[in-house]
Amino acid sequence: MSNENMAELLFPDVKQLPTDMDSLYPPRNLPASAMVTRFAPSPTGSLNIGGLYAALISERLAHQSNGVFILRIEDTDKKREVQGSVEDMIHSLLSFGIHFDEGPDLSGVDQGAYGPYKQSERIQIYKVFMKHLVRHGLAYPCFCDPGDLQKIRITQQKLKVTTGYYGSWAKHRDLTCEQAKEEIVKGKSFVLRLRSSGSLDRRIMYNDLVKGPIELPENEQDIVIMKTDGLPTYHFAHAIDDYLMGTTHVIRGDEWLSSVPVHIQLFETLGFRAPEYGHIAPIMKQVGASKRKFSKRKDLDGTAAYYQEQGYPGFAISEYFMTLINSDFEEWRKGNPHPSFRDFSIDTDKMNASGALLDMNKLSDISKDVISKLTGKQMFDHLSTWSKEFDPELYTLIEKNQEYTVQILNMGRTIEKPRKDYAKWSDVKIKIAFFYDEWFEKDVLSGYKLPASISIDAAKEIVRGFSKSHRFNHDKDGFETLKELAAELGYAKDMKQYRGDPNRYKGHVGDVAMVIRVVLTNRTHTPDLFEMMKVMGENRVLARMQRFMLSSEFKGK
Ligand code: GLU
Repeated sequence: MSNENMAELLFPDVKQLPTDMDSLYPPRNLPASAMVTRFAPSPTGSLNIGGLYAALISERLAHQSNGVFILRIEDTDKKREVQGSVEDMIHSLLSFGIHFDEGPDLSGVDQGAYGPYKQSERIQIYKVFMKHLVRHGLAYPCFCDPGDLQKIRITQQKLKVTTGYYGSWAKHRDLTCEQAKEEIVKGKSFVLRLRSSGSLDRRIMYNDLVKGPIELPENEQDIVIMKTDGLPTYHFAHAIDDYLMGTTHVIRGDEWLSSVPVHIQLFETLGFRAPEYGHIAPIMKQVGASKRKFSKRKDLDGTAAYYQEQGYPGFAISEYFMTLINSDFEEWRKGNPHPSFRDFSIDTDKMNASGALLDMNKLSDISKDVISKLTGKQMFDHLSTWSKEFDPELYTLIEKNQEYTVQILNMGRTIEKPRKDYAKWSDVKIKIAFFYDEWFEKDVLSGYKLPASISIDAAKEIVRGFSKSHRFNHDKDGFETLKELAAELGYAKDMKQYRGDPNRYKGHVGDVAMVIRVVLTNRTHTPDLFEMMKVMGENRVLARMQRFMLSSEFKGK
């Protein structure tokens, strides 16, 4: 009876019972092998690379088993919350191609029947279970303030016993309802604590999905489940949510491993079946010869935002992460070069229990590889989405010249062994900018970058000759015409000829090609000259040659 009175005293407005919650959140209708997983970040900043990695694993486990992947926002620690970070995280996840089935969308609207998906909107649900625990004598109010707790700790330290609020040290464990009422009347605030029956002398055993069998001491502390502000602690809220949302498997960072005894105890006390847990070691950063954890403050490349900004495609990051998740992925990929990485089934048993190393070179190589498999049009679409957010100048250029851009991006990729020169979207602009007249015009204003060995008169003679001899849309190999022109103007047709008697020639065919290249692009390194001209089109090529003939901006001699 006294527990009942205590429950009424503390939660007078809570009328519902756990059974009411059960009917609001019925078991999911899924095949037995389907996994329900969740990514449950706290909105305390932007998504980091470790979070992204855990989210991908959880998403894969759910979707490869025809289960459900949930995004849940664990925002009960209002002091640590950073404004805008929920939207930021959702945006990051989506831009990396990690789609969830349930959770808040970008506009903050919940999708799914097991919501709300923000813990701060589930307070009434938690209260039902808190009241239930008080009613059954499994939780109690504690009015100790920080000063009281400090006193207990100092005594414990003197006596060299385990510090904390437990057993006979838990002085408010057996407060009567009347005593609690007196404290409340005095205006004292209180937390709710779980009455722990655990003992450090006993151990719990559980099988971690990633780390294998784990043995840890039981939890003996009367942990706080509701803070003075009435909000649940993370531990309590996550247990209620994972139960009601039907979570079957939890993948999270191994900083939570030591909380497992508390979590298992909570599930047991509440009479819920605990999900299976898999704890992953943090992703490590290579620094010189050693590796270390990413630092939140120092390492920009530890945030998901960095990879978004640089323009690593989400599917490249995922593809790379797959190699870290299961080492046999690469073998599979060799035998299956074309299908999506999503066709590979990941296995938590085969996951590396120690920290995977983020190898930027390997990420770049994989990214180059996956980008090389895209068509020009697919590249255009990705580039457009990326540049809209991160490079407005490029966005304007490519949107104004859509077809032209697709042709530019298509260069060198319709062949058997396509070019692998782009690792990220921010690599593209510098390589293609000269194709656009707007950009080219600005660039040549500061002079044509002709090699110093070629005089202006010689260059003009070459351009004049070339514009007369070159035939667009002609089957004849353009380079052959160029060779003939070289010979006509007194240049050697090839290097061998030139080296045999350099004094006989003004230069060699390479110099002739270089002049044309610089005149058309103001670059000394470009893709194949004739392929490039084809993409630029006759009019643009002729206009650029004409512009050169009339220009006075030279950097060469
Ligand atoms: N909100 C916790 C975090 O941000 C989630 C821990 C868990 O996945 O259980 O790390």
